[in-house]
Amino acid sequence: MKRIYLDYAATTPTHPKVVEAMQPYFSDKFGNPSSIHSFGQEAKGAVERAREQVVRLLAPRHSSGQGGSVEEIVFTSGGTEADNFALEGVAFANEGRGNHIIVSAVEHHAVTECCGFLKKRGFKITYLPVDRYGLADPEDVKKAITDKTILVSIMHANNEVGTIEPIAEISKVVKEKGIYFHTDAVQTAGHIPLNVNELGVDLLSISAHKLYGPKGVGALYVRKGTRIARFLYGGGQENNRRASTENVPGIVGFGVAAELALEDVNNGESRKLIPLRDKLIKGILEKIPDSQLNGHPTFRLPNNVNVTIKYVEGESMLLNLDMEGIAASTGSACSSGSLEPSHVLMAIGLSPELAHGSLRFTLGRLTTEEEIDKVLMVLPKIVEKLRAMSPLARK
Ligand code: PLP
Repeated sequence: MKRIYLDYAATTPTHPKVVEAMQPYFSDKFGNPSSIHSFGQEAKGAVERAREQVVRLLAPRHSSGQGGSVEEIVFTSGGTEADNFALEGVAFANEGRGNHIIVSAVEHHAVTECCGFLKKRGFKITYLPVDRYGLADPEDVKKAITDKTILVSIMHANNEVGTIEPIAEISKVVKEKGIYFHTDAVQTAGHIPLNVNELGVDLLSISAHKLYGPKGVGALYVRKGTRIARFLYGGGQENNRRASTENVPGIVGFGVAAELALEDVNNGESRKLIPLRDKLIKGILEKIPDSQLNGHPTFRLPNNVNVTIKYVEGESMLLNLDMEGIAASTGSACSSGSLEPSHVLMAIGLSPELAHGSLRFTLGRLTTEEEIDKVLMVLPKIVEKLRAMSPLARK
């Protein structure tokens, strides 16, 4: 049976060009970038080239000359560390100015769990509600700001329901008050245009494995002049901001993945998923009674489909889809396995029952129309079968 992967928001296959670029840095060019001999300098050169590739993805140079600089990129072990570094780093470096942090109610656990930790350390956290599409309102941000607010963190796009947040508008409100602004762009890099200057953010997180790079490597963009405490203590790597010997092969792969992702966004390749996404949404809503779309209909990632199918459990649908060779997810991949309904679906106003009946399909570079057709053939039959057995279904 041909397997169909529709879980690209959980992770992506590493691009063959990325694997090829990484290969020499395991056993041939294996030097430590901190060593001054030629082995070390060869590895250091590769890390610095990757830094340039990553900065071009996040802060492309404008005709005005404004762009990002390599010193603004700190390599991390992934999106989670980038988020933790942004929140803890800014919180601890700016404690003297205030102790209030604002985040949206639909942030990834990498942000919300970190806020839980900061709360125990005396910081006050405001979780900003979102509307039924998952959108945060710049006016609400304005109202939530106090003279103790030091940081606002709102994700660029949500990993579960795909809603793209109005970051540039929110930034106007935040920057007016001279407050630091962070965005988690883990799900947007390589899918929609990304530019730290147009978004008006001071800090931005990305992760390589969501854009056809390797797992276990990411980056935090830190705008020049941002007061941020160092994250790991030890050596002086990453400009004294993050200790530990660099993951050279991972960073090299991340650089190539960033370059390929930028090409895809610039030549419109990433937008090619939109018709497939819309075909899947329309097909599900038409073929399956009592189904609804979650997230915003148009301010939406080109690859995200999230639906609630009433009277059935997401997990049962997933298992049945898996038996047909189709990989999808329910809620976020990180929280599946827990019985707690997704905090994102609850925040957009779904009841726990409806939240449990959600399914997420995320499309990617290798997704074909035939695959979408197969889902549209298989899913209605699965739902019909499960509803026939379900005490939840209306008789
Ligand atoms: N932020 C968002 C929005 C995500 O979707 C994810 C991963 O699912 C992360 C952060 C964590 O990234 P990583 O797996 O690289 O730690």
